[in-house]
Formats: sequence, C-alpha cells, structure tokens
Amino acid sequence: MGRRPKDYLKNKIKRPKMKTILQAPKGMPDILPEENLLRRKIFKAVEDLGNFYGFGQIETPVLEETKLFLHGTGPTSEIVQKQMFILKTPGKDLLALRPEFTPNIVRAYLENGLYNNPKPVKLFAWGPVFRYEQPQRGRYRQFWQCNFEILGSADPIYDALTIQIFYNLFTELKMKELMIEINTIGCDNCRPIWHKNLKNYFRSKRKFLCADCKNRLKINPLRILDCKNESCQSLKNGAPKMIDFLCPECRKHFKQILEYLEILGLPYNINHHLVRGLDYYTKTVFEIRLASDNLALCGGGRYDYLVEMLGGKSTPAVGGAAGIERLVEVLKKNNFKVENPYKPKVFLIAIGDLAKQRALKYLEALRKVKIPVAESFAHESLKAQLRQADKWEAPYVIIIGQKEALDNTIILRDMKASSQEVVESEKMIEELKKRFKNDNIENI
Ligand SMILES: [Zn+2]
Ligand SMILES: [Zn+2]
Repeated sequence: MGRRPKDYLKNKIKRPKMKTILQAPKGMPDILPEENLLRRKIFKAVEDLGNFYGFGQIETPVLEETKLFLHGTGPTSEIVQKQMFILKTPGKDLLALRPEFTPNIVRAYLENGLYNNPKPVKLFAWGPVFRYEQPQRGRYRQFWQCNFEILGSADPIYDALTIQIFYNLFTELKMKELMIEINTIGCDNCRPIWHKNLKNYFRSKRKFLCADCKNRLKINPLRILDCKNESCQSLKNGAPKMIDFLCPECRKHFKQILEYLEILGLPYNINHHLVRGLDYYTKTVFEIRLASDNLALCGGGRYDYLVEMLGGKSTPAVGGAAGIERLVEVLKKNNFKVENPYKPKVFLIAIGDLAKQRALKYLEALRKVKIPVAESFAHESLKAQLRQADKWEAPYVIIIGQKEALDNTIILRDMKASSQEVVESEKMIEELKKRFKNDNIENI
C-alpha cells in the first residue's frame, strides 16, 4: 500500500533560505560565457606565441609565502606596501594571494631545478592575480595576467624578443597604433649615482611633493617618477635622467635593444621617466601602449638580480605581463567579433518519454563521430523545440516522435530546403555525412 500524498506533505523538509542573494567579493567579477569567448581568443594567441617562440607553460599556486613577495617584488613597491591580500592559515603561516607572477615563476624555477635545462629557460603563464585596491573601471581586485619570462641570458636580444612577443600578441588581436615606451634604469653599478642625483633634485623641490612622495624620497626616490599626483608629475621633466649616468655596459645593452627594435621595425619611444612599480627591475623597462589613449597594455623589463635574491645562482632574466581584463576592454571597444566556436550542425528534437530515451543514445552516437549537436529537451512540444532549432541555426534537424521511437526511425529535416524524410536510425550518421558532403559542410 502506498502512502497518501498528504503524508508526504506533512514530512516535507524545510530548507533554510537566504533572505538576500549573495554577491561576489568587491572587485572580483564573475566571468560569464560570452566574455570567456573573447578571453579564450586571447589565451589561444598567448599559447600559439608561446609555442612558436619555444616557451613552456607553467602554473604556480595562487597562494605563496608572503616572504616571497616581500623579498621579490620588493618592500618599497606599492604592491607590497598597500595591495597584498594576506591570510593566516590555521597553522599560523602567512600566505599571500599572488599580486603578480614573476617572483612565483622564479621560485618555481629554483624549487624544481629548471636551471638544469638548456638556457635560456622560457616560460609563459596565465591566471588570476590579486591586489587590494579601490576597484574602478578596468581595475579589479582579482584580475588575470599573462606572462612571458626568459631566464638565464643577459643578451639584449631577449629583451627585444620579449617586446616583440607582446607586440605580436596585440597585433594578433587586431590592435592598432601601438607604441613601445622604453627606458633603462641601469644596474647596481650605475643606478646609485642616478638615485643620488634624483634624491638631491627632489629634495630641492620637496615642498611641491605629495605626502606619499615625501616618504618615497627617503625610501626610493625612483618611485616619485611613478606618482600620479599632478604636482609631482610636473617635476618629472626637470629630473635627472638615468641615461646620463649609465655605465658602459648598461649603455651598450640599451643601444643594442634599440637597434634590434629598429631591425624589427617596431615603433618605440624612449621615455626617460618610465620606471615601473617593481623593485627588481634592472636595465630595461618597457610598456606597450595604445597610442590613441595612452593606455598601457603590458609592461615588463629585465630582472638580473631577482633569481639570486631569491636564493639561486646569479641568473639574468627578462619578462613582462599583460592584463587580460584591459585587453578584453580594448577588444570590446574595437568591436572584435568572436563567434561561438561550437556551431551545431544538427538539432535534436524528441517528443515523449521513449523518444527522449532514443535521443540520448543518438546524442552520444553523434558525439562519437564529432558531429556538433544542440538540443532543447526541456521543452516538451514540437513547436517550442523547433523554435530553439531556429535559434541555433543548425542546417539539419532530427525529430523523434512517438512513432519514430517505436519504429527505430528518425525524421531528418533539411532546414534550408524545407524538406524532410524518414530515415532508419542506424543510417542516421551515414545519411548526415552524405548530406554534409553534398552541402560542403566542413569539419566532419
Ligand atoms: Zn650599469
Ligand atoms: Zn607624489
């Protein structure tokens, strides 16, 4: 004897319900399917370039020991001073959500003995990075970057190649009017002299500096060149330039990169005030900007001391990073069209329970021979399912009604010709292939 419905009602589970819908943490947007089509296009271009230039893909954890960034990214960088997400594990370790990729890649290079590979070791990566800052348009607390890093060569040809790779990435994405901003910030031999001169210069202008820069004057005067404050910016033009203090080696290195850029036909502008906000850069620093609105698409530089600073042997290196969200923004602005790569060639319609059982089997049969299919099984009526078929614009529709399910047949409908015929289900794939061939439909 079955129980009566009212017994079920009496015992029905009461699930707790939220009063409001929760939101993602501030500055950490969801990435929805449509946007992912654009992003996949970017990652595909990154991957293709990585493969072509002999880079291997690396993934490092999102969390690292806080020490890594304090030591690597540098204590005077804005990122470390103000923008790190730090969390304490139950075991009381301090871990930081990575604010950038380079120190992690160097850590992985050392930990996994990648230095035993033929040099230079070329690595690329993409993934989310985290910075605690006020979210605004195009700036998030969780955002994605892609990186190209070349470890183990001091040759300026790799500085030029890094720039070329990023330049290629943007041209692959049909971005135009790109400008390479480049500068050299010297090495440990020559930079201290520039530092001293910068310090003297800004000290003489101290009263015009913002509060942050007054502090920067003590710790790292180079950072003042990066300040967005108008008053501080206006002092930049009179500031001493690194190029006037370069040691012979740094001078030669910079000159060679510029020659390479000329040979490659890449447009560049020597920007004496470009310093980049990370402590580990030496010699080359660069950005690639959109000339139209001076928007920086990527940035990078040489970091010849970082590997040693993180406990390895002296290993010169160069690399750069581009922000994915910014690229997406530009692609959207440029009306960059991406079609869904999955275009169904067949739409599967089933009416009734037995037909649905058949349809599930046919769906798998079609998948095995790689015929792309769409369905809308949740719609019960033929009319509603046909409407969905129209939306997908599949050239062929397979209809399984009650009768077809019993007979082991299907109705194969040619949408373009508005004609249909009954086909035995075993011949479904054969028939489809024949028709695709006649229609010159590719990829099957
Ligand atoms: Zn030098
Ligand atoms: Zn300032």
